[in-house]
Amino acid sequence: MVYNFSAGPAMLPAPVLKKVQAELLDWQGLGVSVMEMSHRDPIYVQMTETAEQDLRDLMAIPDNYAVLFMHGGGRGQFSAVAQNLAGPTATVDYLNTGIWSDFAIREAQKYVSHVNVLDVMTEIDGLKQVKAPEQWALSEQAAYFHYCPNETVDGIAVHEVPNVRAPVVADMSSMILSEPIDVSKFGVIYAGAQKNIGPSGLAVVIIRKDLLETQQNSVCTIMNYKVQAAEKSMYNTPNTFAWYLAGEVFKWLKAEGGVEAMADLNIRKSSLLYECVDNSTFYENRIHLKNRSKMNVPFQLKNAALDEQFLHEAEQEGLLALKGHRFVGGMRASMYNAMPYEGAEALVDFMTRFANKHK
Ligand SMILES: *Cc1c(COP(=O)(O)O)cnc(C)c1O
Repeated sequence: MVYNFSAGPAMLPAPVLKKVQAELLDWQGLGVSVMEMSHRDPIYVQMTETAEQDLRDLMAIPDNYAVLFMHGGGRGQFSAVAQNLAGPTATVDYLNTGIWSDFAIREAQKYVSHVNVLDVMTEIDGLKQVKAPEQWALSEQAAYFHYCPNETVDGIAVHEVPNVRAPVVADMSSMILSEPIDVSKFGVIYAGAQKNIGPSGLAVVIIRKDLLETQQNSVCTIMNYKVQAAEKSMYNTPNTFAWYLAGEVFKWLKAEGGVEAMADLNIRKSSLLYECVDNSTFYENRIHLKNRSKMNVPFQLKNAALDEQFLHEAEQEGLLALKGHRFVGGMRASMYNAMPYEGAEALVDFMTRFANKHK
């Protein structure tokens, strides 16, 4: 048995992969694979409509929002957001809570002249945390407010949707579908697919329809929200396989009890691991409780000289991809929806034994 803690591309639900494998050569009795047929074929189009509807059901997406399946993953949206929603002379607000926020900011700076960066990370009593919203220096008139609710690399989460005047744009790449959210509080939600949805390269965009009108003519056409909404995400050939696989993941999620069931599972997994870290003198995580991620749990061995051995022994037990991001070092356990509770249990069991052995 192997448990894959990769931050992304990440593990997919085994039942989904088995179904995909079983129907790979002959999809819906057509004698060809889903990758080998026209995206305009009514059977394929019907599949995309079901996928969209399932996502709408799962997230309770209101009718005044469009759902787009786009190219270019999460980072493609860093530029798409700036190009579609803000003219070159606009002001935009960006909350900076970590590495992904920072990447988004640097991309926006290419297209928008006034990118107001809100540096809100602070450290109090040795614990990293996000400053209270009263301390954020928001602009008077921002075209939008961008933030990343779950910083995948840093393990920092902003659990409450910021209450700001401008339309809220959220990079949900590593937490979409992991818990119920109120879509109506957002202008745009986007996510690269490879953490909680499906294969990399695909991006899901959920956009309030009135914002489709703000788009600039200079936007590259495949990244143009208005065009993609009008063309039902088929302005050019979409990534047909990724879209199909995402649809299968949505069906699986519904059968598992939806985002409510996932939220419960994700709390149980992450709590188990944080408890193990907090109760030990061997491991540590120096992020304040209020900003801890439920998806990506970074932790350090206090004796970093044991890092390599930890990773080696974990791997021998089938606990894979625990090495922290190259920017931060240490360890990181990513536990998206597809990670069963038993995976968190196996990790904690190993960590406890490893700590006892090396005390
Ligand atoms: C993984 C990730 C991205 C980047 O996704 P790509 O598909 O590689 O462009 C962006 N934002 C967040 C929060 C991520 O976790």
